[in-house]
Amino acid sequence: MDAQYYIDLEEQFGAHNYQPLDVVLQRGEDIWVWDVEGNKYLDCLSAYSAVNQGHSHPKIKQAMIDQLQKLTLTSRAFHNDQLGLFYQELCALTNTHKVLPMNSGAEAVETVIKAVRKWGYKIKGIPPDRAEVIVCQDNFHGRTISIIGFSTNQQYRDGFGPFTPGFKIIPFGDTGALEKAITPNTVAFLVEPIQGEGGVIVPPTGYLKEVKSICEKHNIVAIFDEIQTGLGRTGKLLAEEHDGVEADVTLIGKALSGGFYPISAVLSNSEVLGVFMPGDHGSTFGGNPLACAVARAALKVLIEEKMIENAAKVGDYFMSKLKAVKSPHIKEVRGKGLLIGVELVPEAGGARRFCKQLLQQGLLCKETHESVIRFAPPLTISKKDIDWAMDRIEPVLKGA
Ligand SMILES: *Cc1c(COP(=O)(O)O)cnc(C)c1O
Repeated sequence: MDAQYYIDLEEQFGAHNYQPLDVVLQRGEDIWVWDVEGNKYLDCLSAYSAVNQGHSHPKIKQAMIDQLQKLTLTSRAFHNDQLGLFYQELCALTNTHKVLPMNSGAEAVETVIKAVRKWGYKIKGIPPDRAEVIVCQDNFHGRTISIIGFSTNQQYRDGFGPFTPGFKIIPFGDTGALEKAITPNTVAFLVEPIQGEGGVIVPPTGYLKEVKSICEKHNIVAIFDEIQTGLGRTGKLLAEEHDGVEADVTLIGKALSGGFYPISAVLSNSEVLGVFMPGDHGSTFGGNPLACAVARAALKVLIEEKMIENAAKVGDYFMSKLKAVKSPHIKEVRGKGLLIGVELVPEAGGARRFCKQLLQQGLLCKETHESVIRFAPPLTISKKDIDWAMDRIEPVLKGA
């Protein structure tokens, strides 16, 4: 069957909530994927950073096979022999006290909003139903009703109201605005260390550090959404490490399973997640033994195979190569580690047409925010692979 056959099936039977590029993928191995016609591509999106460890990593695959031959799902009505080990290893790695496992990133965000609201009422003493959470302009935290309610992207919201109240929006990267927005009812500030979907927006140096100290001063919970920036993407295990800070609560997801299975987690100090009592929150699949076994393997290979160090080193190399490209279409190249955005000037006619040309050249890239091309390959990529990619990226960026 040719690609068009599969595309037509999706078109006919699927909801049209995505606009994928015209490529039908069938197989993946490390940084490479193949389409149904046998063409090979370098994956420069990594499923929005869910495949940091590379496609079908053999050790994660084996861990998944081993576990699914034993036990896949118990629900949390019973204990399982993977969950505690997963907690222990994750806590040791991230210097965390308490973990709450969920499935998708959006669920982790929903979970933390519940937790900080309850923390506000039970610990901070805020009057009932008055809790406020501060968030940033151009944020991306997922697609549930509550989360899109505090999005500033009109398309994400249009037609989906009424929304959950209790959120206040301030500019990203602006600590003065944070100070001003805090009221006695503020319970938390939710922020991405680098805004990924927002167009790879890097805040001023020291931003997170300042955020953390403001949160401490006003007794509000600092929540860093590291679902995209975490797990090595920016050249550190967590992007907050660049600022030498630890959030009160950190959210991870995406690469937590290396792309094999949906799993996310809320990493917290004892006080915030401590507010949850049996029955307060749950998820049928959250913390299931298959997810835990896969996540344990995914974390292990990330560390053991030095993917984080590689992301820092190769990321710097990739960034310097992209910055050296002289093209009238490029406005700015920015990012950290292997999370890189190339912003085009308005006259360039949008990023999508460049992504289409890159596809022809054997690179899978996705535009974000219309005018930004995001380069976020698996963290296993080598300098040699970057040279291969640049031989194709440079002419496309320079072309008409
Ligand atoms: C992708 C993403 C989410 C949502 O994760 P899903 O698994 O798609 O629900 C939340 N926050 C950030 C920063 C993300 O990049």
